[in-house]
Amino acid sequence: MFIMAGTDAVRPRVGVSSCLLGEEVRFNGGHKRYRFLTDELGPYVDWVPYCPEIEIGLGTPREPIRLNADGRLVNRSGTADHTQAMTALPLPGAVDGYVFKAKSPSCGIWNIPRYRPDGTSGVMGPGLYAERVMAADALLAVEDEGRLNDAGLREAFVERLFAAARLHALLNGAPLAGAPEPGDLVAFHARHKLQLLAHDPARYRSAGRVVARAGAVPADQTGAAYRELFLAAMASPATRGRNANALQHAYSRIGPRLPAERREDLIARIEAYRLGEVPLSVPVALLDHYASTGELPWLAGQTYLNPFPAALRLRNAVPQRPLRQRPLRQRLRAGDLKPGATVVSLRSTAAPACAGSTPACSSGINAISGAAGGRSRWSGRRSRRTAAWSRPSAGR
Ligand code: SF4
Repeated sequence: MFIMAGTDAVRPRVGVSSCLLGEEVRFNGGHKRYRFLTDELGPYVDWVPYCPEIEIGLGTPREPIRLNADGRLVNRSGTADHTQAMTALPLPGAVDGYVFKAKSPSCGIWNIPRYRPDGTSGVMGPGLYAERVMAADALLAVEDEGRLNDAGLREAFVERLFAAARLHALLNGAPLAGAPEPGDLVAFHARHKLQLLAHDPARYRSAGRVVARAGAVPADQTGAAYRELFLAAMASPATRGRNANALQHAYSRIGPRLPAERREDLIARIEAYRLGEVPLSVPVALLDHYASTGELPWLAGQTYLNPFPAALRLRNAVPQRPLRQRPLRQRLRAGDLKPGATVVSLRSTAAPACAGSTPACSSGINAISGAAGGRSRWSGRRSRRTAAWSRPSAGR
């Protein structure tokens, strides 16, 4: 029986260009230590450092190499061709992701220039070794240290690392590697529901169909199909809108079990996040707090609440979008949602029951519509009622 590991229990194996960890392997004998990797992420992952240029026998210091327009990897003076040696290097074993050094003709993943015979640079593309790694597994999470300076890209990459590590723990921990027990797969998929919804709702549903057929098809086929859908879903960006939908889904599940004032607080924070007024950590922290009571086991089991170690503090970035609206509570007090809007106080919970038969209702939230027939700020669909906070739908 596979035991689902918590985020703190899995340690992703991550390939990394050696120079980023401070190893003095660069052409000039130096390194490019990247402190986020060594000081912040390092305590939570197992590095697999690799320097392809050292591995093909180039020492330090060495003459810099570059890519030619014909795809050959040569030294700058053009007296040595390292293409064959580089293409013969072994690829990394089972890793959950890879951090490459930017701007390297061997390790770069973006915009590495190819030089023409006249010395001018033409086509841009990946470095030779990085290209091979990415071609071998298109679903592998890869980034370079330059892109990891972006808070959103950093969070997305680290989330993919830990998600892949949990998946590999599931598949490798199966009695037959890659062939999970149906019950373990069901539990895994259920625990990742909110996280998958935040990334790719369509693939979440497709993966659910794979899980549903798990007992009827060979387990290794199920494992392979689920792996592809899961990793592809995690590669899709978790936009603010999708995160808001996932949060609304969480609300629809736990709302009926919360006191009215907690429901209102949760709704206000989810809406503030949706509008770009607070970072994702704000509504998630509230959900995490409710989950910590021990009374909401479904919520407590969701990886969405703690997709990576909290000490990395990766969810604290406020979304970069101009704020055109005042916070929800201020707008409610001022009654400025729309001309002619019928606004029900946040304190009011005597809302009409949700039929649960429409997408809007099935998400459990109608929330506020500006006027009769207006567009719901929660569901994005037309509400059939005047403004009202809906009663959360029954938990599913
Ligand atoms: S080949 Fe890669 S790991 Fe080695 S020094 Fe260059 S960028 Fe760093």
